[in-house]
Amino acid sequence: MRALRRFTVRPVLPPALGALGRLAGNLRWSWHPPTQDVFAEVDPELWAATGHDPVALLASVGQRRLEELAADAGFRERLAAADADLSAYLGDERWFQRRARTTGTPAAIGYFSPEFGICAALPQYSGGLGILAGDHLKAASDLGVPLVGVGLLYRHGYFRQALSREGWQQESYPALDPEALPISALREADGSPATIAVAMPAGPDLLARIWVASVGRVPLLMLDTDVEGNPEDYVEVTDRLYGGTSEHRLRQELLLGVGGVRALRAHARITGHPAPEVFHTNEGHAGFLGLERIRELTAAEDEPHLDFETALEVCRASTVFTTHTPVPAGIDRFSRTLVEQYFATGGATPGVPVERVLALGAEDYEGGDAAVFNMAVMGFRLAQRANGVSRLHGHVSRGMFHGLWPGLDEGEVPIGSITNGVHAPTWVAREILELAARHGGDAAGADPAQFWAAVDRVPAKEVWAVKRQLRERLVHDARRRVAGSWEERGAARAELGWTETALDPDVLTIGFARRVPSYKRLTLMLRDPERLKRLLLHPERPVQLLVAGKAHPADDGGKRLVQELVRFADDPEVRHRIVFLPNYDIAMAQPLYAGCDVWLNNPLRPYEACGTSGMKAALNGGLNLSILDGWWDEWFDGRNGWAIPSADGVADHDRRDDLEAEAIYQLLEHEVAPRFYDVDADGVPTRWVEMLRHTWASLGPKVLATRMVRDYVEELYVPATRTARLLDGDGGNRGNSGTGEDGRRGGAGELAAWKQRVRREWPRVRVELVETDGDPAQEPAVGDRLRVHAFVALGELSADDVEVQLVHGRSTPEGDLLDPAIDLLAPAETYEDGRRRYDGEVVLDRPGAVGYTVRVVPQHPLLASPAELGLVTLPA
Ligand SMILES: *Cc1c(COP(=O)(O)O)cnc(C)c1O
Repeated sequence: MRALRRFTVRPVLPPALGALGRLAGNLRWSWHPPTQDVFAEVDPELWAATGHDPVALLASVGQRRLEELAADAGFRERLAAADADLSAYLGDERWFQRRARTTGTPAAIGYFSPEFGICAALPQYSGGLGILAGDHLKAASDLGVPLVGVGLLYRHGYFRQALSREGWQQESYPALDPEALPISALREADGSPATIAVAMPAGPDLLARIWVASVGRVPLLMLDTDVEGNPEDYVEVTDRLYGGTSEHRLRQELLLGVGGVRALRAHARITGHPAPEVFHTNEGHAGFLGLERIRELTAAEDEPHLDFETALEVCRASTVFTTHTPVPAGIDRFSRTLVEQYFATGGATPGVPVERVLALGAEDYEGGDAAVFNMAVMGFRLAQRANGVSRLHGHVSRGMFHGLWPGLDEGEVPIGSITNGVHAPTWVAREILELAARHGGDAAGADPAQFWAAVDRVPAKEVWAVKRQLRERLVHDARRRVAGSWEERGAARAELGWTETALDPDVLTIGFARRVPSYKRLTLMLRDPERLKRLLLHPERPVQLLVAGKAHPADDGGKRLVQELVRFADDPEVRHRIVFLPNYDIAMAQPLYAGCDVWLNNPLRPYEACGTSGMKAALNGGLNLSILDGWWDEWFDGRNGWAIPSADGVADHDRRDDLEAEAIYQLLEHEVAPRFYDVDADGVPTRWVEMLRHTWASLGPKVLATRMVRDYVEELYVPATRTARLLDGDGGNRGNSGTGEDGRRGGAGELAAWKQRVRREWPRVRVELVETDGDPAQEPAVGDRLRVHAFVALGELSADDVEVQLVHGRSTPEGDLLDPAIDLLAPAETYEDGRRRYDGEVVLDRPGAVGYTVRVVPQHPLLASPAELGLVTLPA
């Protein structure tokens, strides 16, 4: 009710318990079990009833209980220990600080994402993208990487999922009260809330206030348009994630990108936090941030400003773009006219010419749509460095965006990959960490190898006892959820006795939980319902299945899949062995990953960009049974789980589903279940535990978010910082010296002018003739040298502007090179007509068919790769 005046009575903590407020105010508690213990001790029942939410706990615990705790010396001691631990965590020197002494590292990194999944108490995510962003912030905090997160605060989050009697997904949107969330308002020195404004095409500016969540050492800024002064349709901009019309979405993305940069500036001004030198956009939704940075650089009122081309180079050098979807339909596209309205004169980024804006998002390549503004395309054009999220996804992305670099071979499209990871302290069950600790493994220690070696020492019997405990906890949690769901579906309590014995803590437990877009194939397991029934009801080797997932509210196809599954699971014959758990979220996910023996994933290859749920299962001693897609394609080694053979070449989808479902049944029946039930005299399935150990040893160190964030630092953030400093001195943040009188800042102006010159002259670059020494009629032998001479014309370009490359390797019968090597040819002679000769040689080091070619590419020390401009010239 908007007319209702809301206010929240903040609890008054006795001075002796002041630390409780500090601990509740930093989300680090959500991955720190000792701090959770302190909250639990405040009031165990209330702690459980709030779903582990310290702010809610402290808001409802009675004053008398607080006084009791204040008088309890033992509690005060434990509280002081947790408080001291947090202070040390926030102030310690960590990996990044130790590393920073050796090389130039960014003072700060702005990390933009439309969603952040940090903990159940801050529901601001829909699925994998948000969970990944949350894990990225937490791992950055653990490593001491100076990230600042930027996102939106959605009044209703995503949505809450329930089921109708018929099994149809029901969505509800409970309102969140920011005052009751673990966030605080960013305030100006005079106490007023800090706000930012973004101009709209008609009407007043869109206003937003800034909330800050403390994620360990990382501040997360969240913009909220529910403020005084905004008309109703502006208030709705941050109503919910991924809802509403295209224009609604555009407004959200404007706020996130343009408003997000302004929020970073306000935060830096108020808190003294350093300005980011690198801007990382997690998926294309935040891409408008680059336009705001160009505006800052070109339209600054109080200092000489840059021209557009120069500002673009400064912006690109300091921007990292991570693409997340291999599904063309997953890419954000707007109508060009709509974008034009928002960026026309006086619009969101005044001074940035609207034609330049439109050109950045134009699909001006073969197969593109001229009426469309494409956020991913703009993302690539505004970022010098871009990556996909697994090796396979990098490959798929290079194919998908090849049109932006039409002159290059697909393999050379400048999109790399960094495989996602998961934040172990969030996702690994406490019992497993404690088990490792009993055998000397320190999960928080600096040496992961030491931890995994300790895990390996744990006797099989102990491993198995803990797995049973986790399975049992999951079974209890699932029974409670199933009963609750049935009550919501209208069943009377008396009808629900069966739920008390549904599922079995000693049965092989398979989990399947994820969003429900069609490529994830929620119902593939139902392909042959009778076959699945036999597996579930097998007299000696039964399996049980726990399934969860939300369909997008506008996706009726997805909802039909949910219903199909629910209907199957409603059948009294199987309902004790298969359940659908509504409202998949972090709170459900944690016990689910921990309690499963097998994590099933059957996407349509290659549409799973990475996937992370299987990584979380693996860390908890679950074995993956998955299509070789995303991360599993990269790290399945034949012994750390099972690969479901995918029928990639089969074009008929039905047939492909049949084949892949059959493969799942076969694996479950002949490999998975027999191994699980093959137990020794102590009831321990030793061959299973062996596989589990191997999973830990082979995947444990790789699937971690700390590994991922280190990779981002080394491969993207540090190189971006280096280039940005060479270009600009301060990474594109206003207020520093270095601006030339002519509006071309140092290296950036030079680079922009150089790119323009190279693009202009490139049509005159030619490889006119390639010759080799020796008798062409004579077959060379291994060990021979092939001397190559190339005659090239460079037009007005100089030898310093280009590289002349010799590309060589094994050749296929079709004339393609396999994993070609690249050597440089050296300038040897310049002729009177300006042509140049380049020489070089290759040693023929293996027998068989080989091939080579010569090509010319641009070269400049400030390019991230020679492929950046997409210019390449081969022999005519
Ligand atoms: C990990 C996680 C996801 C993402 O899992 P995928 O394997 O990428 O589908 C989605 N939702 C929740 C709640 C998660 O914890």
